Amino acid sequence: MDFSIPPEDAALQDAVRKFAARQLAPRASHYDETGEFPWEHIKPLSELGVMGLNIPESLGGAGVSALGLALAMEEITAACAGTASMVGAHYLFTDTLLLGADRALQDRYLVPAAKGERLGAYALTEPQAGSDPAGMRTRAYEEGDGWRIEGVKHFITNGAEADAIVVFAKTDPDAGHRGISALVVEKGTPGFSVARKESVMGVRGSPVYELAFSGCRVPKGNMVGAPGTGFKTAMRVLDRSRVEVAAMSLGLARAALDAAVAWAKERKAFGHAVADFQGIQWMLADMATELDAARLLTYRAAWMREKGEGRYSRESAMAKLFASEMVGRVTDLALQIHGGYGYSKSLPLERYVRDARILRIFEGTSELQRNIIAREMLR
Ligand SMILES: Cc1cc2nc3c(=O)[nH]c(=O)nc-3n(C[C@H](O)[C@H](O)[C@H](O)COP(=O)(O)OP(=O)(O)OC[C@H]3O[C@@H](n4cnc5c(N)ncnc54)[C@H](O)[C@@H]3O)c2cc1C
Repeated sequence: MDFSIPPEDAALQDAVRKFAARQLAPRASHYDETGEFPWEHIKPLSELGVMGLNIPESLGGAGVSALGLALAMEEITAACAGTASMVGAHYLFTDTLLLGADRALQDRYLVPAAKGERLGAYALTEPQAGSDPAGMRTRAYEEGDGWRIEGVKHFITNGAEADAIVVFAKTDPDAGHRGISALVVEKGTPGFSVARKESVMGVRGSPVYELAFSGCRVPKGNMVGAPGTGFKTAMRVLDRSRVEVAAMSLGLARAALDAAVAWAKERKAFGHAVADFQGIQWMLADMATELDAARLLTYRAAWMREKGEGRYSRESAMAKLFASEMVGRVTDLALQIHGGYGYSKSLPLERYVRDARILRIFEGTSELQRNIIAREMLR
């Protein structure tokens, strides 16, 4: 395995790092405190190509490698995890269209979204079904020249802000997961409404919503692929996006570790910098080692994704599992090294701890990642 970062990916990493430090980081605590959507970030992110990093140039995207995408996600998250989560949900939308839609639907929704002209969301989860999406109750009924959607989706990132949402619904409830289809619903479609905003612990600059569909009609052509292919497309999208969640974990952990190293060198106790104490040094050593281990798993999964051959569900689940658990431990230790100041809202450490927590939950919980890894081992 080649551990060097290709020059074009290194250049992207550098550009995103500088942009994120200048434009995203200064507003991160504002979005955390207010829970507002970071509208002001969309235009500059689009100009940098970030909203379409996951999409080929032929479809309006920036066409970067999977490693380049992971490096960019790390940089965005190190500056503002809420913004990264908003971008990640947009990628779930565009990935679904990339993998499942025909060219006509891609031209209508994917191309403008990849350019950052339109924002997307991905609505799989329901109030009673998250880990087990085959347990969804949302239905789509074929009626005349379209589909009528009935149901409720929950915890949908960008749900109120997105111009278009890919909604998963059962078109054949007797066929289990093979009866699930994906449909694009535009904002403002009669019968589609935002029921409420959920108040959450972290990534608060990336609000989540409950969405209601009642008599919501969309044209036939808004189905992504053939009826019954929605579940398979949704799972392929999650294989891809778990590499991005792993990369988000790297970014947050790196920000916390950098802060902890700087603090440990400055902060004095018993006449010494706290970095002089072996107890603190061992914490820093464990944090750095775990971060590097997660980085290698993430880059391997990105490399597998890039090759585009065969399955990489196991590698992407391993990267997501290990990196998201790692960032929980690293942000917690970083807060500990800061003592009472770490617990205070005057520093970002407590926000890092809260932001890190979702990474073990969305796009498949840690338990589900273990199930995927074991399934792939035992198949
Ligand atoms: C901030 C945020 C943003 C989100 N964004 C989106 C989004 O944009 N789009 C979207 O569709 N969804 C989104 N989600 C939903 C998220 O993906 C789900 O919350 C997640 O998949 C878990 O589902 P659940 O909450 O229903 O938990 P449940 O499925 O009810 O799980 C409860 C517990 O049981 C465990 N469990 C369940 N099944 C098993 C099993 N077979 N073996 C072992 N343990 C198991 C789980 O790991 C968990 O610990 C978001 C959630 C949050 C909080």
